[in-house]
Amino acid sequence: MAIWNLGSVNADLVYRVKHMPKPGETLSAHGHQRGLGGKGANMSVACHRAASHVEHIGAVGDDGLWMKARLAEYGVGVAHLAEVAGPTGQAIILLDDAAENEIIILAGSNHAVTEAMIEAALAGATAGDIAVFQNETNAQVAFARAAKAAGLRLAYAAAPFEAEAVAAVLEHLDILVMNAVEAEQLESALGRAPQDLPVADVVITLGGDGCRWIHTASGAVRDFAAPKVVPVDTTGAGDTFTGYLLAGLDQGLAMEEALALAQKAGALMVTRLGTADVIPMRDEL
Ligand code: ADP
Repeated sequence: MAIWNLGSVNADLVYRVKHMPKPGETLSAHGHQRGLGGKGANMSVACHRAASHVEHIGAVGDDGLWMKARLAEYGVGVAHLAEVAGPTGQAIILLDDAAENEIIILAGSNHAVTEAMIEAALAGATAGDIAVFQNETNAQVAFARAAKAAGLRLAYAAAPFEAEAVAAVLEHLDILVMNAVEAEQLESALGRAPQDLPVADVVITLGGDGCRWIHTASGAVRDFAAPKVVPVDTTGAGDTFTGYLLAGLDQGLAMEEALALAQKAGALMVTRLGTADVIPMRDEL
């Protein structure tokens, strides 16, 4: 089986500064790092490291070819990662000495996905494969419709949260993954509790407290504790969790087993600095 991920690819550009710049102030950075990131790219790397085959659907600009090459080197299928004009997605991250951050996202080529690209990609899918998307690309509704028409099991990570984007795809979803903040935002924006959503499986991640699985048809709500670790950097924990969860389901695990695998991966991920590049390998869990 395979996982089809409509997802963002961002250059994570990290600048270390003594303090956050004030309006009009010019600051020198005392450190800089460039890494592969974006929720979509993180999830693709996690799916592959969890030993599933994943095809990434999206677009990079001419300045992002190094990221496409790195995804391919990491084992992610990039035949449907288009090369377009203009800037690739970027996350400009300021990290100050008090460990606060400020982040600016430029969507760039992540918003250059066309319906034709989606159709061409999903023509290679088999009924029963898993499709996943997040909220950092365009063409989400087209992807959701095409994936369901092709008989795929459709998963969505509602991040970054946007009420309109969630409402537009909700009826198509089989699996919805959110963190605790996103779950609250959804409930207050749409006026619907997780157990009342028209989605078979709702998973809410709770950071160090683990996760909750809501099986809406039966109304069953189950909480799972996370492994105990000392967190160093929580960036990418949710993406790692979701990639591993879907890979587990793709490999035929029951939801409880896939959640346990996802939690091991998420817990190990928070002990590491960085994003896609440091997502754990399955044999490290
Ligand atoms: P997000 O990164 O989307 O905000 P969470 O912070 O809820 O998501 O983390 C996702 C998952 O990663 C959790 O459900 C858990 O399995 C794991 N995780 C996150 N933080 C910790 C932690 N401090 N200790 C152990 N596991 C963690």
